Amino acid sequence: MGKTIIISNRLPVKIEQENNELVYKASEGGLATGLNSVFKQGNNLWVGWPGLAIEKSQEQEVHSNLIKQHMKPVFLSSEEIEDFYEGFSNETLWPNFHYFNQYTVYKEELWLAYQRVNQKFAEILSEELEDDDTVWIHDYQLLLLPQLIRAISPNATIGFFLHIPFPSYESFRLLPWRRELLNGMLGADFLGFHTYDDMRHFLSSVNRLAGLGNSNGTIKVKNRLIKADALPMGIDYEKYAASAQDPETLAREARYRKSIGTVKLILSIDRLDYSKGIPQRLRAFELFLSKYPYFKEKVSLFMVVVPSRDSVSKYKQLKEEIDLLVGRINGQFSKLNWTPIHYFYRSFPLPALSAFYRISDVALVSPMRDGMNLVCKEYVASRLDKKGVLILSEMAGASKELSDAIIVNPNDIHQLVEAMHKALTMPEELQIESMNSMQKSLKRYNIHAWVKLFMDELANVKKEQSHLKTRLIDNQLSEEIKHAYKQSEERLIFLDYDGTLVGFNENPDDSKPDQELIEILDYLTKDKNNHIVIISGRGRQSLEEWMKPYSLDIVAEHGVWIKRMGKPFKTFMKINASWKKETLSLLERYVNRTPGSFVEEKDYSLVWHYRKVETGLGEVRTRELTSHLKYMTANENLDVLEGDMIVEIKNSEINKGKATQKLMEIYPEADFLLALGDDFTDEDTFKAMPEDSYTIKVGTSASEAKFSVNSYKEVRKLFNDIIKS
Ligand code: UDP
Repeated sequence: MGKTIIISNRLPVKIEQENNELVYKASEGGLATGLNSVFKQGNNLWVGWPGLAIEKSQEQEVHSNLIKQHMKPVFLSSEEIEDFYEGFSNETLWPNFHYFNQYTVYKEELWLAYQRVNQKFAEILSEELEDDDTVWIHDYQLLLLPQLIRAISPNATIGFFLHIPFPSYESFRLLPWRRELLNGMLGADFLGFHTYDDMRHFLSSVNRLAGLGNSNGTIKVKNRLIKADALPMGIDYEKYAASAQDPETLAREARYRKSIGTVKLILSIDRLDYSKGIPQRLRAFELFLSKYPYFKEKVSLFMVVVPSRDSVSKYKQLKEEIDLLVGRINGQFSKLNWTPIHYFYRSFPLPALSAFYRISDVALVSPMRDGMNLVCKEYVASRLDKKGVLILSEMAGASKELSDAIIVNPNDIHQLVEAMHKALTMPEELQIESMNSMQKSLKRYNIHAWVKLFMDELANVKKEQSHLKTRLIDNQLSEEIKHAYKQSEERLIFLDYDGTLVGFNENPDDSKPDQELIEILDYLTKDKNNHIVIISGRGRQSLEEWMKPYSLDIVAEHGVWIKRMGKPFKTFMKINASWKKETLSLLERYVNRTPGSFVEEKDYSLVWHYRKVETGLGEVRTRELTSHLKYMTANENLDVLEGDMIVEIKNSEINKGKATQKLMEIYPEADFLLALGDDFTDEDTFKAMPEDSYTIKVGTSASEAKFSVNSYKEVRKLFNDIIKS
């Protein structure tokens, strides 16, 4: 195993000049916290810009100081900072990706700087990079980097996560450098996005610009398979929950309360950015006070705007607009004992933020567009009494997870006004109910779960790639197998059922053996030298009924049940099925929304079938459902498997591999071993088989099997050839 290198525009460190000395402070950002456990281990490393223009004479010192802390700096000149960071990243990509194309700057020289700096990152990284390393690249400043690294190290494992939205093709296509940017990203093996929509937009651009299609997020670029998926980033939940009860937070809250009096507070916290919808929010608050005068003197807007990019002219203009609006509203409504808007243009440390979160009855998070938005998640985590109401823009990535918030369209001023009214008058039981549900989900999908999921998905793609090279069975190979079959004295043959021996049917109950299959099974099971095992994901019933005429063994439900010849089904391990209830109700919700789909309940697994669903809709729902399920099951020992027009959820301990092993122990003398299967679950069978056995994948996707055939018809042909010879 090689080392892991994290790479982002900024290093997780703040360097400040204090009394002629450089002082290093660890960054408290969510990403840094989540990746702490990764980059500080062994030889692992974080590569990035230390955050300020360092004098040439100090570079060496900064370098050696940072290296000790597992960080390697990329030094940027003030010109590079201006053109690459403030320029192309923040004035070209940022507005385009947030659908503010009226602000997008198209300047060739900024693009050139972006290319140069991405190249610089690649060069510095290459000093450290070895072939078996894992590289995790972060965010929109480094879109070209995956491909640049791929060129240096073709086998490297490269992951990429985009922290801002990926725009619809209609926005992305406006960029003159759209193809280069996309090809840069396609150097990665795995690409993560906050939401399913971001991923969908990316795949659509890949399709239109690079001419590459995808199957459930898997794209084939030449011979390499790459994958995109939605993995919404979580927060360090425990940190915010702990800070909310810290004595310093409580003392601050008491102080603020004393100054403010008994008025209710609506909280608004953002960086200064046009994507955050701050003026729109102010106008909505103004209208709220006019429409509901009852709330005058009873509620104030507590608004923190954190200075950001204020050297860029668009941001300066925004600041002026906000100042004017706050002045106008306060001027119009203020009373000696009441200020409608408490406005702070500065940033605050965590204990102050925690106190703001605690003291506010409502959090109003209404960005025009936001990749994720962490403030809303932090507000929820800080509400230890479970009271308080979150109003959340549907344009924030977080709205996909926090559906219990009051969800608003930030452009709809009337909806914002009504949402404020609803939030301020919401009964406590309702507040607690929705807060509870949001807290549960945020606790579970915290930053640590996110890091683990990303790393696991990346490793999985790599594994799939390595098995891509399965050999298609030709005449010569088929002869070889026939010959080995005839020569052997005791054979053990594992046969998956659906997709391997029969084709797929709209109704799974219609797949009983037809005449051709009956003849094959008859021949195989009558030969005393054969042990035939039907190894299937199906429930027990249909298999038992259909296989009654034959003397063979049956493995049902992926290995939960084994039935030896003439005996009843038995389980051979203890399995937990307590997860089924919650998952079943989720699947039923999807069935309600997806005509034609249905749920199949087995003893220890659940299957969502969508074969009869309208083309297109089934695929869309499957993406949504699997990412939903992956998150629901992140901390449970469950597998979410996508099969042929199905999604199946089962305990991870159960797999066909274990059952295969068990049966090989029962028939240790077998000198001819053959396994055939068509889907993901059969991979475990293939893996369990010894080196000298024949493993055959039915279908063309990547597999652990040594050989492959195109369809169940070729499987039948292979057996018919054996019968005839
Ligand atoms: N924040 C802070 N001090 C402040 C205001 C905000 O540290 O005075 C933090 C806040 O806790 C959150 C982050 O800034 O973690 C803002 O993240 P978000 O995703 O909401 O917006 P972004 O600025 O990344 O667009």
